[in-house]
Amino acid sequence: MPPRKTAKTPAPKRSRNARTPAVQPVSVVTGGAGFLGSHLVELLLSRGHRVVVIDNLVTGSTDNIQHLAGNPDFRFIKQDVTEYLYLDGSVNYVWHLASPASPIDYLELPIQTLKVGSLGTHKALGLAMSKGARFLLTSTSEVYGDPLVHPQTESYWGNVNPIGPRGCYDESKRFAEALTMAYHREHGVETRIVRIFNTYGPRMRVKDGRVVPAFVSQALGNKPITVFGDGTQTRSFCFVSDLIEGIYRLMFCEHATANQPCNIGNPHEMTMLQFAQEIVRATGSKSRVVHKPLPQDDPKQRKPDITRAREILGWEPRINLAEGLVPTIAYFRSKLPV
Ligand code: UDP
Repeated sequence: MPPRKTAKTPAPKRSRNARTPAVQPVSVVTGGAGFLGSHLVELLLSRGHRVVVIDNLVTGSTDNIQHLAGNPDFRFIKQDVTEYLYLDGSVNYVWHLASPASPIDYLELPIQTLKVGSLGTHKALGLAMSKGARFLLTSTSEVYGDPLVHPQTESYWGNVNPIGPRGCYDESKRFAEALTMAYHREHGVETRIVRIFNTYGPRMRVKDGRVVPAFVSQALGNKPITVFGDGTQTRSFCFVSDLIEGIYRLMFCEHATANQPCNIGNPHEMTMLQFAQEIVRATGSKSRVVHKPLPQDDPKQRKPDITRAREILGWEPRINLAEGLVPTIAYFRSKLPV
């Protein structure tokens, strides 16, 4: 019979996995004041981490994290992650999210985008190495460019125009993946690479130019919905809570291939015309579609193959588009002038 547990003989603290310390884990989140970053920070706090956010607020905002300000486990440092990162004390996990992520942002900030993907990733990896921490890079489906393989599997090397307007983002993330693997191979840093597909939810900036804020704010104002090109290009939209859960599981995944890139996204694919119709339905809008020129190098199709995430993480999205649009639309309604 096992010994009875009494107050004097507490059960030993058990780690969730071999790396999770019995003491409180410490996570650093670069870009933690952004859309995805702020949701990740909330999840980490709710799962017992101490969290340090580093963000230069170029595209992030303190609005996304101000509700965490009184939390003793939360700390915010306003800093550009391309500069040397020094932190006192232990760090167990580095989550490197910092980067502009909307096509109009990286068109406006091409050099900062390239710098954060290259120099910023270098500094974040250096921090992880010096602390013996595990490192996770948020890469992107943009590494597949305008894909010739559909749906996109992680083994596909992509079709990217390095000198086009999206090249600054695509190539900085491709470089970041290469640097991450180099730190893994040369320095033995434990690394994870997630390739994030289109994601939506509360805290996207109303004017960030991406299709979800654009269509929802146009629909809520009963203004024309601007479909670029003929609207036959496809995307697949993942709700933010699903995405963050997938990223979290990847960081803690102990599978033998966990250091290889892993797609996280929702495989439900639709054309931009279908998406416009869905937004009109979900908002009850009177808006009509107008067509605008298709931006250069706009990928014609995008849909993640998530076989790998299913197998190694036991993950798949749970929130369908109609469900995810409810809090998303409510959020944009609260941000738009009445
Ligand atoms: N798009 C559109 N109207 C807009 C904004 C975007 O039709 O007002 C299209 C864009 O051309 C692309 C898709 O929506 O085909 C998704 O664009 P987004 O900027 O959200 O991200 P991307 O997936 O291209 O990185």
